[in-house]
Amino acid sequence: MENQSLPASTPAYNPITGERLGEVPLNRIDDVKAAVDAARQAQQEWARLSVKERIRRLQPVKEFLSVKADEIAEIIARDTGKVRLDALVTEVINSLMAIQYYSRKAPRFLRERWIRPGNLLLANKWTKLRRVPYGVIGIITPWNYPFTIAFSEVIMGLIAGNGIVLKTASQTQMVGQILKEAIEQAQLPRGLFAYLNLPGKVAGDAFLQAGVNKLFFTGSVAVGKYLMAKAAETLTPVNLELGGNDAMIVCADADLERAANGAIWAGFSNAGQSCGGVERIYVQRDVYEPFLKLLKQKVEALRVGYDTDFEVDMGGITTESQMQTVRKHIEDALAKGAKIFAQSPPPRNEKYKNLLPAVVLTEVTHEMDVMRHETFGPVVGVMSFESEEEAIRLANDSYLGLTGSVWSKNRKKAERLAKQIEAGVVTINDHLMSHGLPETSWGGFKQSGIGRTHGELGFYELTQSQMIVHDFLPGVKRDMWWQPYSKQVYDGLRGMIDFLFEKKWGKRLKGMFRLLKVFVRTFKA
Ligand code: NAP
Repeated sequence: MENQSLPASTPAYNPITGERLGEVPLNRIDDVKAAVDAARQAQQEWARLSVKERIRRLQPVKEFLSVKADEIAEIIARDTGKVRLDALVTEVINSLMAIQYYSRKAPRFLRERWIRPGNLLLANKWTKLRRVPYGVIGIITPWNYPFTIAFSEVIMGLIAGNGIVLKTASQTQMVGQILKEAIEQAQLPRGLFAYLNLPGKVAGDAFLQAGVNKLFFTGSVAVGKYLMAKAAETLTPVNLELGGNDAMIVCADADLERAANGAIWAGFSNAGQSCGGVERIYVQRDVYEPFLKLLKQKVEALRVGYDTDFEVDMGGITTESQMQTVRKHIEDALAKGAKIFAQSPPPRNEKYKNLLPAVVLTEVTHEMDVMRHETFGPVVGVMSFESEEEAIRLANDSYLGLTGSVWSKNRKKAERLAKQIEAGVVTINDHLMSHGLPETSWGGFKQSGIGRTHGELGFYELTQSQMIVHDFLPGVKRDMWWQPYSKQVYDGLRGMIDFLFEKKWGKRLKGMFRLLKVFVRTFKA
């Protein structure tokens, strides 16, 4: 796509009411190169500041978020169709917690540290591990949590000393604008942070061609694969946070009330449009019926609609194409023998668009799309299992592995099962919420992605490690294995093997003497 074929701006609409929310100018493809170059220039000055000074300069962002929390939640809700409570809890509060936590902990995560020598004979070699910012990080984020995903990555990237070029989803540009305003509260060198509005299909190529030093992408598996292949051309490292098809395992000894409430929250908050939301529920045979009974009551009590008075539990679907995916998955499941066991009452006001009921499917199998692939909507499929082995086999029967959960009152057993689940995060008696724990890294196994975000590991992804190796033995003119080479030097160094690894003391001593002979040469000119 060329510059000329790009429209001048992106109109923003409320996906539920259809109300026009605004119009955001679209950038040109050339702006990407200009933004990356400017960020690279500004980053040099930024990286020279101490981590504490960078953090100090970012503090006005925290202030902005806390003062404008209601306004931001409102903008998120109108731009995505989610309810304000979801927006406040899963986008604003966790963003505030993240900036606070990283402001406290990042100096420790990023500090230089000594690595002790690994061997007595090389005890003079001491290595210092440094974390070096990449330079310019490109960040591309989706529409489902349009504020918090981008916010944490930008803040962490800046604290780590990088310049940032950010592109958020086209669908949620009103959120993008308030996010940009928030970050611009910080005292940053000019050009260090750039926000661009560009269609995804041109943005990825443009970011890579412009020479970002690392690309952080959150979105679909298909686009993640495309970007990884494209990034291979320039060996640009990528961090991919992709889709999920999370399993929830409910054991017979679980607190069923909590498990059913948890399934409702993690399956249907944000209308199920959560990468780490519950999609598949496996319930131990003994408690299958009582669990389903509870789930039915709770789903039937869910109030789906457009949030005008805070009295709505589940909002709408953000994009038309997502509506189609959800409908197709339900149709596929019903055609293959699944049953709608429970669903929420229809939305309160029929004039609104993009509202779907919350649906619980039973008699599902792993042949159905709803169990095989990510549905990313208000649908959960429930199956029973007999043994722990069967539960693990079913949970792991997926090409995705973002998160998962185990529900049991026996924490030891729950952890034993959790360790067998092939997912980057496994929660016990909870699900999904760990994205909001700034100390807990997030990222998937299998096709759910590569790399981690959040927590100490998140800072490692935003920096390269550099080793500075010192030699602390004074007066040494050459190391033992430096030229000139000779048979005597060879034998001396061979003696090192006997000295260190021989079982018999006699041989060890002989080895030591041979070694000492070549050690002496280290002090000779
Ligand atoms: P998507 O189509 O991959 O889009 C995500 C972002 O990528 C948007 O900003 C989009 O821009 C951009 N994009 C599209 N095509 C691109 C390309 N060729 N090169 C570069 N960027 C491109 O994904 P989605 O359907 O919007 O998002 C939902 C997916 O994200 C789900 O699979 C969900 O599980 C996943 N997700 C994962 C996580 C996680 O942490 N693992 C978190 C949230 C969501 P436009 O909007 O302009 O098209």
